[in-house]
Amino acid sequence: MAYKFYIEVYGCQMNVYDASRIADIMSTTGFIRTMEASEADILIFYTCNIREKAVNKLFSRIGALKKQKTTVVAVGGCVAQGEGEAIFKRNNINISFGSQMYHELPQYVNSVIENKADKILSLNLNHDTNEQGAKFECLPKRQTSSYSEFVTIQEGCNNFCTYCVVPYTRGCEYSRPVADVLSEIKGLLASGTKEIILIGQNVNSYDGEAPYINIGQTRGTWSLDRLILEISNLNGLKRLRYTTSHPKDLSINLMKVHSQIPVLTPFVHVPVQSGNDRILRIMNRKHTALEYVEKLQQFKAICPTIQFSSDFIVGFPTETEDEFYDTIRLAQRVKYTTSYSFKYSRRKDTPADKMEGQIPEDIKENRLKILQTSLLKDQINHNKAIIGTTQEVLFDKAGKKKSQYIGKNIYLQSVIVESDDNLIGNFRNVFIESARENCVFGKLM
Ligand code: SF4
Repeated sequence: MAYKFYIEVYGCQMNVYDASRIADIMSTTGFIRTMEASEADILIFYTCNIREKAVNKLFSRIGALKKQKTTVVAVGGCVAQGEGEAIFKRNNINISFGSQMYHELPQYVNSVIENKADKILSLNLNHDTNEQGAKFECLPKRQTSSYSEFVTIQEGCNNFCTYCVVPYTRGCEYSRPVADVLSEIKGLLASGTKEIILIGQNVNSYDGEAPYINIGQTRGTWSLDRLILEISNLNGLKRLRYTTSHPKDLSINLMKVHSQIPVLTPFVHVPVQSGNDRILRIMNRKHTALEYVEKLQQFKAICPTIQFSSDFIVGFPTETEDEFYDTIRLAQRVKYTTSYSFKYSRRKDTPADKMEGQIPEDIKENRLKILQTSLLKDQINHNKAIIGTTQEVLFDKAGKKKSQYIGKNIYLQSVIVESDDNLIGNFRNVFIESARENCVFGKLM
């Protein structure tokens, strides 16, 4: 009997990529994918634990589904790594696997089905970077492809920001070999993919040559800009993006490739988190507010069309009102196209969780509202600025109204048009007629 599996993913693009690779490895080892949880014999949940909300959402979702007659429940990703053994107390979970171990999932599932084991915990808590390489070596060719695909080029992080669990859950920085990345992208382009998004916890640290990078180890000679130059020569590529970048690793060569390569979008996500130097220091961000702003100015001087988005955390432990307003001032200076802002969320076993001076929720809430109001003004202005221009848009979904389609321009602004033809997966030129807070409206050229 062929067992059916259903996979549900929460969190960042890295998780979306991992989930698609889990689906590939399950499909090539005799399991059949279903898109309906109610039909599944195996429920797979893949999620992060960056924010407490995501973890709670996962457990309530499993709670809702576990009443079904399901053979196996498997939970993977950073949440497995973060929860350890404790995960088995919270729900009816059979398998908990870390993000470096998902290539072994079919084997774990078979063990549970064959009653060889009821609870399997498979983590990589000692951060053995060879395991990261092993995972990628075991993965089959991509089994499905769409017009836009994520490709992981790097995993893990050596930066140890004091609020973040990633270095503990994903381990040390690891770069996939250049040949592997190029081979995966060539396969995707050959099957019709038009847009590639290179992803990693810190893509700017991409090294590509050394099997892995440990803290303090010298990097190899490859770099993200060299990789981008190689990828840009591949046939069929229409649009190339990458995320996420650490400001300190944003190199001049990378800035230069943005002005040289037409398929590379002039839009970079550069998280700053805070605009105050003391807060940046206790966050262990390894740069000052001024160094950050000057880097973006340098980027603009090298590539005048470049625009930025960022992440912000408000209410970090001990943050005063004045220090919070430094963040507002930095945001107003940079004028981001889009931004993602959050209240500081305590994560177990991180240095920030143990800090004195945790900020009350109501103050965090208030600061978040003030920051978001300010960020939204810049977002609206960026949207208004493209009224009357023609934008190349890659359409990715249907709108709420009949015949409405939504896509993204090079700056990831949402563009809405009406069309009798299905536009999903197609690039079209759109004349922009009006703008709102979160989107612009236009007509097909
Ligand atoms: S650079 Fe990003 S992934 Fe790395 S520790 Fe800091 S916040 Fe986490």
